[in-house]
Amino acid sequence: MVDFALTARESEWRKKAKAFVREHVIPRTDLDTHGSFPRDLYEKAFDEGFVTAMIPAELGGGGRTVFEVSLSAEEFGYGDLGVATSTFLLGLAAGGLVHFGTPEQKERWIKPLTSELRFASHAWTEPQGSANLLGQPATTTARPVEGGFLLNGIKSTISNATVASTFFVFARIESVPASESTPSPGSASSPGSASSPGSASGSGGLTCFIVPRSANGIETRSPYKKMGQRASDTGEITFRDVFVPKEDQLGRPGEGAVIAMRALRASRTGIAAMAVGVARRARDLVIQHGHSRVAGDGRKLIEQQDFRFHVAAMEADIEAARALTWRAAAELPDGPEATKLSSCAKLVSANMAVRTTNQAIEMLGGHGYLESSLAEKLFRDAKILQIYEGPQAIQKMMIADTVTRLSWIGR
Ligand SMILES: Cc1cc2nc3c(=O)[nH]c(=O)nc-3n(C[C@H](O)[C@H](O)[C@H](O)COP(=O)(O)OP(=O)(O)OC[C@H]3O[C@@H](n4cnc5c(N)ncnc54)[C@H](O)[C@@H]3O)c2cc1C
Repeated sequence: MVDFALTARESEWRKKAKAFVREHVIPRTDLDTHGSFPRDLYEKAFDEGFVTAMIPAELGGGGRTVFEVSLSAEEFGYGDLGVATSTFLLGLAAGGLVHFGTPEQKERWIKPLTSELRFASHAWTEPQGSANLLGQPATTTARPVEGGFLLNGIKSTISNATVASTFFVFARIESVPASESTPSPGSASSPGSASSPGSASGSGGLTCFIVPRSANGIETRSPYKKMGQRASDTGEITFRDVFVPKEDQLGRPGEGAVIAMRALRASRTGIAAMAVGVARRARDLVIQHGHSRVAGDGRKLIEQQDFRFHVAAMEADIEAARALTWRAAAELPDGPEATKLSSCAKLVSANMAVRTTNQAIEMLGGHGYLESSLAEKLFRDAKILQIYEGPQAIQKMMIADTVTRLSWIGR
């Protein structure tokens, strides 16, 4: 039976996130500044359990379900999307390690991330592209050497790059010794693990490496001025002959795409939830405006049918996107339709958020277009929801890979 009622635990968690955002995020006026990275705010979010919410309790995390994390991500999205991105990024960065790591790797790499505020990065994208890494050879390489690998290459537009203590780096192994081909725990052949349409496998594919910032040969910088989400760090990482010991290879050689997809499907559901949050904020903004502004006929905007219908359409959009997001979150981590549904939720919710924030600008009139207007900030923040963790074409590819099969007909 379908039940949309939250449990007491879920309800409490959502209430806590709402209160946190109201008290610590919304009042901040410094979040939309280039290069702003409100560490003090992230410290508070860490102390309250949001940063590590998605890490299993036995590894020092909050042990929250994907559904619960989505509830809090929606509230953070209401407050500030940049803050939401950096707060919940650990789920993406360390998600592969949680599912594919050996017990020793989890102990060594996850525990430090949960004992105090530290950041981690999911380093997939390269200056040459992101989506194409599923088909083209990555330019970041791992050359096998005695005891491990030497990493070389550049990863660009990486969230938390300049603040992360740990990088999860996807690179192409130049050649693979035969002795490497033993299966890893949670590998693609295990029950319940992610299958990745279009994933590269074998020695020519991507492999995931865990690399500490302290490793010699790493350089990070933040060369970008972003359109929005300025409270989130986005940077570039250069690897020059960075030695990675063999034991810091995550999963099998060539298993990187599967590992990334496994982490992405939970994270994409979080993005969908954040999209619902920012759309709610835009809706509230126009309702507030409608109550205060009087039109030429002497009636308030909120009494005008056209204005009311726009608000109604926003509400219908928000409810639809949230229902799909909850459906996806309930399917994770291991439901048979988890990959498809997380892509559906991200696709629909991100488009909805951009549509809603765009509409809000218009409903606020000329003032909505001004730089000081909250509406234009929400729109700028929302735009990247359609792009990061895979643009629309990629989400459609993931969905089509499932539903265009002949076996899908009649379901
Ligand atoms: C603020 C920010 C934070 C980010 N954080 C991270 C991060 O933490 N880690 C990380 O690894 N990356 C991160 N990225 C990178 C982001 O995930 C990529 O920019 C995104 O996935 C798109 O990849 P791309 O830029 O290489 O564009 P491309 O892959 O080149 O795509 C560009 C356009 O080409 C089209 N396209 C691409 N492939 C196809 C196809 N097969 N069929 C049809 N059309 C296609 C799409 O329309 C797409 O919009 C971040 C980016 C930003 C801006």
